[in-house]
Amino acid sequence: MMHDKPGGFEMNQKAVDYAVDSAVMQTYGRAEIGFVRGEGCWLISESGDRYLDCASGIAVNTLGHSHPRLVAALIEQAGKLWHTSNLYRIPGQELVAKLLASLSGLDQVFFCNSGAEATEAAVKIARRAAYEKGESERVTILCAEGAFHGRTLGMLAATDRPLFRTGFGPMPAGFEHVPFGNLNALRDALGPHVAAVMVESVQGEGGARRVPDDYLSGVRAAADEYGALVIADEVQAGIGRTGRLFSYEDSEIKPDIVALAKGLAGGFPIGAVITSKVVGDAMTPGTHGSTFGGNPLAMAAAQVILEVLSEDGFLADVRARAVYLDDALLGLRGQFPAAITECRGRGFLRGVRLDETIDLAAFVKTLRDDHLLCVPAAENTLRLLPPLTISKDEIDLAIAKIAAVLREIPKHDNE
Ligand SMILES: *Cc1c(COP(=O)(O)O)cnc(C)c1O
Repeated sequence: MMHDKPGGFEMNQKAVDYAVDSAVMQTYGRAEIGFVRGEGCWLISESGDRYLDCASGIAVNTLGHSHPRLVAALIEQAGKLWHTSNLYRIPGQELVAKLLASLSGLDQVFFCNSGAEATEAAVKIARRAAYEKGESERVTILCAEGAFHGRTLGMLAATDRPLFRTGFGPMPAGFEHVPFGNLNALRDALGPHVAAVMVESVQGEGGARRVPDDYLSGVRAAADEYGALVIADEVQAGIGRTGRLFSYEDSEIKPDIVALAKGLAGGFPIGAVITSKVVGDAMTPGTHGSTFGGNPLAMAAAQVILEVLSEDGFLADVRARAVYLDDALLGLRGQFPAAITECRGRGFLRGVRLDETIDLAAFVKTLRDDHLLCVPAAENTLRLLPPLTISKDEIDLAIAKIAAVLREIPKHDNE
């Protein structure tokens, strides 16, 4: 990309935009649109257009945009103190850790800044817990086919996307993938070499694919039998997204280790790992760390999220609106049976699996052109991740926009 004139130091705003754009590494296929403001479930673009946000920055904006309590908490903390490091006690961290421990029934929390850091720390902690028990041969982490756990080298090995690994080898050893939702296959893979089973109860990137209803309790029982730990990767499905604070709650199991990130601070970077006492006690000073982890700003935001989600009736109301979305999606499927092969997921982590003849990327772009933001996922699945605060009217609007695009695909118009 060449400029006729480099512009010297007199770049106008357009030239600056251009320069910024061209200097950003092209690791994402970005849409040609930038947002400058957000209000609830709406994003407002540079040109002033309003977009209904059913992406939530990929399951991050739990309470939508510019939630007054989040804004107030962050502004207040920003005026007091930004960062001190984990060389000192961080009062906000102790408070959020206590909230997470009591809400999960677990005991200890490690804070970091992203999902991959949380899942990676979960794996380190599981291996270290085995090592401290004198079982240093227990290193393997069993992951599921279709799993996504992040993009660090360790989590690339845990993630089941061979293409993502191209050119980045060698991969760290000690990760195996078992068929999705299959307890017999899991039991066959378990043994004295396995430190932990890492599971997403709904695979977000994998296409809003939800494990069978009795799978998690089966995982818990099998892991106990073979002396392995259970790691719940709740980075996408946790923090109310499925209608429960933690998505595994529906199956009434308790994992040993829970990884959180995306929605935990409603848009402020954060990651967290919650563990039982016996597992967490394996981590002693110097075994792991993060400069920014548990930063006061992130803690101020996370505290608001956990308080709001714990309020009486909040999650029950999310579940009620999720049922409303369920019904609307099933209605859509009834209307376009040739185009929609399956409705998937749970709560506000929903997938609409499209017939393979439909180009998902083009579908997402057409929706965006019609001011609805959604996210593509694996298996030709259109993913809906609205803020947990989305209203029924906004759900109706999203469904109407999707129907309008489906209607434009002639052979799928079954009305
Ligand atoms: C997004 C995601 C991650 C990685 O999170 P990052 O913050 O992008 O590193 C890990 N696990 C799951 C289930 C995710 O959806």
